[in-house]
Order: sequence, then C-alpha cells, then structure tokens
Amino acid sequence: MTGAPQVVRTVADLRAVLAPRRAGGVGLVPTMGALHEGHLSLIRAARAEQGTVVVSIFVNPTQFGEAADLAAYPRTEERDTELAAGAGADVVFAPTVAEVYPDGFATTVSVAGPLTETLEGAVRGRAHFDGVATVVAKLLLAAAPDAAYFGAKDAQQVVVVRRLVADLGIPTRVVVIPTSRDADGLARSSRNARLSSAERALAAAVPRSLRAAQDALAGGETDAAALVAAGRAVLADAGLAPEYLSLVDPGTLEPVTRVDGPVLLAVAVRLGATRLIDNVVLGTERTPS
Ligand code: AMP
Repeated sequence: MTGAPQVVRTVADLRAVLAPRRAGGVGLVPTMGALHEGHLSLIRAARAEQGTVVVSIFVNPTQFGEAADLAAYPRTEERDTELAAGAGADVVFAPTVAEVYPDGFATTVSVAGPLTETLEGAVRGRAHFDGVATVVAKLLLAAAPDAAYFGAKDAQQVVVVRRLVADLGIPTRVVVIPTSRDADGLARSSRNARLSSAERALAAAVPRSLRAAQDALAGGETDAAALVAAGRAVLADAGLAPEYLSLVDPGTLEPVTRVDGPVLLAVAVRLGATRLIDNVVLGTERTPS
C-alpha cells in the first residue's frame, strides 16, 4: 500500500482491513504516539520484513502511575500519522480508551516475579507492568501480527513481553530494535520534549554513565559494584542520583555480582518532572554515543 495510511479506530475494522492482507505478512509496531526517530526505526524494520505494517497509537492509561504524567503525555496524532506513513506504515490503529477497555472490563494479564518486581517495577509499582502486559496482549490479539517490533530502550518491557508471548502461546515473533540516540548519546524518548534546556544538557550524563561502566569493563574491571560505582560517579558529577543503576542478568533481571557474559546495565534518573531510562548490554554492544 502507498500514500496515506488507513486510520482505523476499532478492533473490528482493524481485522477487516488486515484479513485480505495476511498472506504477505503483518507487522505491528505498538506505540503511545508522539513519534520520533526511535519509533520510525521500528516502523522501517517492520516495513523491510512485512507486506503490511500496522502502527498502533494508544496512550494506555493503565500503565501510568501518576495522573499528571498521563495528562502531560504528548498527543499528536495527525503528525504521527504522517510520520508513520513516511516510514512505511500502511495502517494506523488508534483506538479510544473505551474501545480498549469497554464497560465491565475486568481482566488483567500479570507477569509475576522478578521480571516485573525489579527496576521499573520497583519504582513504578506492579500496576505498571500489569498495564503494559494487558495492553500488549490485547494489541497482539487485535492485530494477530506475524511479528511485533519493540525498542531495546525499554529492555525490561521486552523481557516481560517475551514472557507473556511464550506463556500465552501467542503466535507472534518479538523483534527487538536497537536504541536510537541523539548526537550526544541521549536515548530518544517522547518525554525528552518536556526537558528544559538546562535539564536537556544534564540528561547527556545518563548515557555517559553507561559508557563509563563500559569503559571500566573494557579496562578489565568485572566487579559489578565497581562498574556501577563508575557509572554513579558520572551522574554525581552532573548532580544526579539515579533511581536505580543496576547490573542484571538480561534474561532473568536478577542482580549479578560479576560480569562474565552479557549483562544488562539499566539506569533510571529523574530530572525535574521527567523520568529518563536507558540501558546497554555490557560485553556485546557498542558504546552509547
Ligand atoms: P512508546 O511510544 O514510548 O511506548 O514506545 C513505543 C515503542 O518504541 C517501544 O517498543 C519503545 O521501546 C520503542 N522506542 C521508544 N524510544 C525508542 C528509541 N529511542 N529507540 C528505539 N526504540 C524506541
């Protein structure tokens, strides 16, 4: 399909649009809108692999802990539709809250254990990943895609989604796309637009902290506490204290004490009213710059 993407608002319409197109493969890119280059890299990856690319735009209220964060979340659907089309989307699925959560809605998909209790789960509370898991399950059931595309920036989300797809037997391949970054290394995020210029300058310390740990590892340090200390020092220089800066197993998200294989270094920092998260897999990835 070329030209403007088709915008559909109901699951019934989405299924009707996709029904004749299944044979060519369907890719789904779930988003909350306010699209930026990171989202577009997911859409392009889907475009390269699938006959039909669906981008969902839904600001999911159940995954927001703070009402103010939900209220302030940018909503730019018209611009998003144009950007999605430019990156190769055929269909934009933009349902209302009532379409996703009709009256009487009473089901929660909950991934239990350390996968959802650590890192973001510890800071944002268990309702956050319940909200994510439930809406992702609903989107995968609605679109029934051959593959769904997620960003490595939300590393814990990827682990949780892989778990729920495996546990529920959902026949969708989960594809993970590397984090897209600004020139100074900051991971692109819809929330970055809310940073003041002073905060935006400080934010570059977040990827720098990951890089400091990478550099320490490259210098021969394998002790997790020492690697975390190297990252914390960079944040402290910028006057920042992380909500967490943790070295964990990339599959189980359990803490590690020594690096002797791929480990996930994940960080969350609050800068004024904005939370920033980032991560790198030590031992495998290029430095975030
Ligand atoms: P969001 O709209 O923030 O829910 O993000 C939708 C999808 O885009 C998720 O799979 C995110 O991980 C992914 N994403 C967000 N930011 C980036 C980025 N900077 N690079 C790559 N993927 C991203």
